[in-house]
Amino acid sequence: MSNPWTGRCLCGAMQYESRGDPLAQLICHCRDCQRASGSAGLPVIVVRTTDFAFKGEIRSYTRTGGSGMPTTRNFCPHCGSLLFGTPHHAPEIVTIYAGTLDDPSRFNAEFAQFMSERHQLDVHQPEIPQHLRRAP
Ligand SMILES: [Zn+2]
Ligand SMILES: [Zn+2]
Repeated sequence: MSNPWTGRCLCGAMQYESRGDPLAQLICHCRDCQRASGSAGLPVIVVRTTDFAFKGEIRSYTRTGGSGMPTTRNFCPHCGSLLFGTPHHAPEIVTIYAGTLDDPSRFNAEFAQFMSERHQLDVHQPEIPQHLRRAP
């Protein structure tokens, strides 16, 4: 068994932990994940519900997702960070949004999904300047 996977929201009011190895690691490019996160796609770690615990207040909303089944997305009511999903059709799993990990270097995508909905904004563009940090 690996070290616990820990993470938190931007303001720190909500923290989570998952013990045990993830079931999968992926990047989801569906339009729902794009809109929910404001980004080109969401890095996701799938873990067992029985391995997962969190501290702090969360707020959530439910919407029918790309699977055609309702999915609940959970976020911090103080800072708005999107933290994890709880799919209704698979109550045995939690989908942690990997950008909230304390150690994002542990994330290692095994596959990407909803490539049909992927946007050009996510495509690597070697002809434009690449900045390691914020552009000057
Ligand atoms: Zn927060
Ligand atoms: Zn998605």
